[in-house]
Amino acid sequence: DRIVTAAAQLDDEALEASIRPKRLAEYLGQAPVREQLSIYIEAAKKRGGALDHVLIFGPPGLGKTTLSHVIANELGVSVRTTSGPVLERAGDLAALLTNLEPHDVLFVDEIHRLSPVVEEVLYPAMEDFQIDIMIGEGPAARSIKLDLPPFTLIGATTRAGMLTAPLRDRFGIVQRLEFYTAEELTDIVRRAARILGIPCELEGAQEIARRSRGTPRIANRLLRRVRDYAEVRAGGAITQEAAQAALGMLKVDPQGFDELDRRLLALIIENFDGGPVGVESLAAALSEDRGTLEDVVEPYLIQQGYLVRTARGRMVSAKGWRHLGLAPPPRQAL
Ligand code: ADP
Repeated sequence: DRIVTAAAQLDDEALEASIRPKRLAEYLGQAPVREQLSIYIEAAKKRGGALDHVLIFGPPGLGKTTLSHVIANELGVSVRTTSGPVLERAGDLAALLTNLEPHDVLFVDEIHRLSPVVEEVLYPAMEDFQIDIMIGEGPAARSIKLDLPPFTLIGATTRAGMLTAPLRDRFGIVQRLEFYTAEELTDIVRRAARILGIPCELEGAQEIARRSRGTPRIANRLLRRVRDYAEVRAGGAITQEAAQAALGMLKVDPQGFDELDRRLLALIIENFDGGPVGVESLAAALSEDRGTLEDVVEPYLIQQGYLVRTARGRMVSAKGWRHLGLAPPPRQAL
């Protein structure tokens, strides 16, 4: 698997519990999001009510799940976790909802993948804290209304555009997570290193941060791989040299790009004259899943200005050509 994938890997889970921030104060970066949420949380607590429903969107690994737990902790309530694809039948959601305590948080990851029948159950639940459930089958079937405790739904999605309008409209609070700056990731790496007892110099943390594609999940993963290298080859401490050597060995370049990023840029340049080219053609040529390309690979390349998304497809920017050591064509050199 890609070392720089923002998607969670098994290996990530082991240390997860110890380094995942639990309070807003430990949730580094995302200053505007933190500030707004701290106000809404305090207001909800003062009123003694449930927090409004929250929609969090942003690429994988930026801290959506973490933030939902942080919100619940700050509210002093429990959180139940599920995800869009897991909730197959209306009854699955009804079972979860009817087991909530007042003001609890229900976290639904990948909420854009809810099935339409489940989504139908969610509307009145979110709006009026009520659900209609069907009892029995055939002519004897009837629907009964159940009251729910007031609760907070926190939905997370990598694709805000794929949410249906009626669902999106039912969230009172909508927050977008942005890629983290290298400075913020440096703080995240140093915090994780402290908790895990890994000696880590500032320059070492900065090197890891620069190559982590603005993504805490990747930063934490690279930290662990660099630690292994430092322990075996460099006397234990994460210095800048150790980080550079370890990451070079993993083929993560100074921009945090790996083979797949470089292959993607090279493919567009070599086979499609730099673009525009449709995402389907790219996915087929790279033997990658279209969703992976759109969710995991492209967002960082686009945010960093190496790739441009146009109505007619993807194009490599002048910066992208230069990254591969090539001269951009005249139309792009402007
Ligand atoms: P997502 O749900 O968006 O895919 P997660 O919430 O699972 O991402 O976060 C991935 C990892 O990054 C977690 O291990 C967590 O420890 C770390 N992390 C995320 N956001 C932050 C943050 N703001 N500060 C520190 N660590 C973070």
